[in-house]
Amino acid sequence: MTSLLPPHLTVKDGHLHISGHDCVALAEEYGTPLYVTAEDRIRENYTRIHRALADRYHRVRVLYAAKANGNLAVLRALAEEGAGADVFSSGELGLALEAGMPAERLLFNGSSKSPEDLRLAVEHGVTVSVDSIDELHQLDSAARAGGRVAEIAFRVNPALEVPTHPKIATGLKTTKFGIPADEIAAAYREALACSNISPVGIHCHIGSQILDLEPFARAAGVMVSLAAELTDMGVTLRFIDLGGGLGIPYNRRTEHAPTPEDYAAAVMPVFLDGIRECGIEPELWAEPGRYVTADSTILLTRANSVKKAYKTFVNVDAGFNLLARPAMYNSYHEVLVANKADAEASEEYTIAGPVCETGDLLAKDRLLPPVSAGDILAVLDTGAYGFAMSSHYNSRPRCPEVVVKGETVALMRRGETLDDLTGTMVRPPWQ
Ligand SMILES: *Cc1c(COP(=O)(O)O)cnc(C)c1O
Repeated sequence: MTSLLPPHLTVKDGHLHISGHDCVALAEEYGTPLYVTAEDRIRENYTRIHRALADRYHRVRVLYAAKANGNLAVLRALAEEGAGADVFSSGELGLALEAGMPAERLLFNGSSKSPEDLRLAVEHGVTVSVDSIDELHQLDSAARAGGRVAEIAFRVNPALEVPTHPKIATGLKTTKFGIPADEIAAAYREALACSNISPVGIHCHIGSQILDLEPFARAAGVMVSLAAELTDMGVTLRFIDLGGGLGIPYNRRTEHAPTPEDYAAAVMPVFLDGIRECGIEPELWAEPGRYVTADSTILLTRANSVKKAYKTFVNVDAGFNLLARPAMYNSYHEVLVANKADAEASEEYTIAGPVCETGDLLAKDRLLPPVSAGDILAVLDTGAYGFAMSSHYNSRPRCPEVVVKGETVALMRRGETLDDLTGTMVRPPWQ
């Protein structure tokens, strides 16, 4: 397994290291559970996907999907690299602005925006991906009230079958996102008739953790044919946003993931032919989330006990309160024993979290070196939809996150205490 690790994860003296830092020492210093992020890996991933696209077209903009990992330290690093962001809430909008991303590099996305979301988008002059005609008219009113013109794209539902987990396929006919492709022309006509709306782009996002390139190419085909129709109608498209969704090989032994270069080779010819036929040169926007952050981060968790029952369980101190993906999507995450990283994997274990739920298993039936209480396990590829989906369930304070860069390590989020759990609770006056 260790031969399959990404370059920022190495094994030295039997210990797993991240960007040269001993994970066992990090667990001792900061305690467990602990998320550890390699900042340089995030920068590398961003640069790689940006370059793969920019090598084939001169007008490319990458908007990182902030929901994958919204820590300000992550967003700041990406802002420095020139990234924009796809934001899905007023909270994500605030974080992206605070991280130093200019408003013109943001897209406010979402299928259920509140009046306050729309007001904030108008106030900050952020382009909005509009998800319904109802929302269009609300945004028009909000823009009029703010004395502004709101620039928009419509979110297209291209109605594509995409091979991924059904909970993260977003472009099926039955999903809640977007406007059916055959109603898009009418939506733009409606937008052109609004006094305070300027339609400047078109947007889609077909799903997440997609390992097959063909759906991306098909979606690009749908988008450029819509672009042709809209151009004929008199809409000037400044950008075509193809969304995110590129998957990563969570199981490096069995899964093959296309690289950003593979992605660009599949999608860009369709895009370039399409815009040439339209006679336009819009910006190409892409919105990777998972690809940028997933493999940058590991979750370190301590074995509290080992139990031989009908199966052998390693009971660890992190569960779906901190990493929801295995319980929510049945996702695979690689697990290593950080303090026995080069020992032979000879025993089968199921890794169970501390939450009072049968489904609280981080990994099932894995071959690992013999584990004992006190060992430090590393759950890999947890930088996307990891901490971001954490909860207080079972009244467990959330763990800290640290970031490593070169020789240095720093907290990027402190661990919560019991006071953080009760701090927002209010005693009713009669108690
Ligand atoms: C979640 C999301 C993304 C990012 O998806 P990944 O699979 O993490 O790349 C991009 N665009 C939109 C609109 C999203 O909702």
